[in-house]
Amino acid sequence: MDDNLTTPLSYISQYNYCKRRAALLMIERLWDENSYTAMGRNEHDHVHTPAADHKSDCIVVTDMPVFSGKMLLFGKCDAVEMYEDENGCVISFLDNKKFIPYPIEYKHGVLRNETEYELQLCAQAMCIEEMFDCHIDKGAVFYITSHRRREVFFDEEKRKAVYETVKQLRSLLNSQTVPQAEYSSKCKKCSLNNLCMPNLEKSAKKYITMIHGSFKEE
Ligand code: SF4
Repeated sequence: MDDNLTTPLSYISQYNYCKRRAALLMIERLWDENSYTAMGRNEHDHVHTPAADHKSDCIVVTDMPVFSGKMLLFGKCDAVEMYEDENGCVISFLDNKKFIPYPIEYKHGVLRNETEYELQLCAQAMCIEEMFDCHIDKGAVFYITSHRRREVFFDEEKRKAVYETVKQLRSLLNSQTVPQAEYSSKCKKCSLNNLCMPNLEKSAKKYITMIHGSFKEE
């Protein structure tokens, strides 16, 4: 496999949600929609149009492409609020003025605490830092249904977790193997449930014994 292949940034959250899900998406190229993914896509529509919207205290850039040559990651930020600040960085496409970027990731549902989205947001911030040679302390995950944002701080621990995830993703891609399913409460909401079949018996011997047992009972 080509070590220079780039990885979509969204796999950072997929991998931290479930390694098998990330592998089914990346390696098997499987996809299925459920009510959660459909609602999420629908609610995201307005931030999936490239624009620079001037607000009273900032400029909101939507659907902003980002890339990291160091991590070989690419993707898009739903929204980045740009706060004009002399200590910020020059944003070439915003009249070369100086700004402090504040990335925001939109998610379906009510306010909750999900590490996988915090790491996805941190990876976006790390891409912006590399692109504009700046440092970003914080951003937010915005929960659409409750219309509230959870502020996320990009500390060393999160940055290390992003690097580690990128390493694991590349190793997963190189191995071309899909990890075994580990059934958890996450499976109920997972759109790949029908394709993954997390409840299926892992051992063929155990499965045959179980089938044989149920025949005997009839
Ligand atoms: S159904 Fe469960 S084990 Fe399978 S991919 Fe989804 S979350 Fe992972």
